[in-house]
Amino acid sequence: MEELKNLKFDEKGLIPAIVQEAKTKEVLMMAYMNEESLQKTLESGETWFWSRSRRELWHKGATSGHTQRVKEISYDCDGDTLIIKVVQKGFACHTGAKSCFYNPLYTTEPEEAEGQEILQKLYEVISDRKENPKEGSYTNYLFEKGIDKILKKVGEETAEVIIAAKNPEQGELVYEASDLIYHLLVLLREKEVPLEAIFAELKKRSK
Ligand code: AMP
Ligand code: ZN
Ligand code: ZN
Ligand code: ZN
Repeated sequence: MEELKNLKFDEKGLIPAIVQEAKTKEVLMMAYMNEESLQKTLESGETWFWSRSRRELWHKGATSGHTQRVKEISYDCDGDTLIIKVVQKGFACHTGAKSCFYNPLYTTEPEEAEGQEILQKLYEVISDRKENPKEGSYTNYLFEKGIDKILKKVGEETAEVIIAAKNPEQGELVYEASDLIYHLLVLLREKEVPLEAIFAELKKRSK
């Protein structure tokens, strides 16, 4: 491929590759490629990177199943960065987040999407418990008991919301609704539904 000559790999033979969801254009992750991983990507149609920490070729999704089917690759003006447009299976981030870029560092609109952030953080903690079980964690207790237990809790918490709503005071309803939302997030994680899918669906309806 003629274009490969235009690429500038750094002194370690690496080039940063920004992975973007082809459809939504959301930035999913960044990882490094060397020539061999780029070749493997081109040959297989799925992303391959160079893991700097493990010092080995890394087929994204090899262990998680969360592979990326390549739709398009482009390089920037000076040939030192790649953008890979993909169809992502599952989540790009090993934490269970759809995108690796979920840590807010700076925004000019601090009030914007604060509620969404809280939900996202909670979902990520739940995800992390699933992947790195913690002694004495109630979330892990739920995951260990499995889907039927989680569904039973969602049912119970729903009933408690209904009862709380009969109460003229708001306090109990706030408490029970929070319980329900938490258990709903555990259910979503158990079923591997990313939170973004819910936000996307709600957004679609609001238009
Ligand atoms: P996977 O390639 O998804 O099967 O994950 C294999 C390993 O690669 C994980 O245990 C992580 O160490 C690493 N990994 C996976 N996805 C990412 C990512 N988006 N960013 C950084 N490291 C990742
Ligand atoms: Zn430029
Ligand atoms: Zn550049
Ligand atoms: Zn990540």
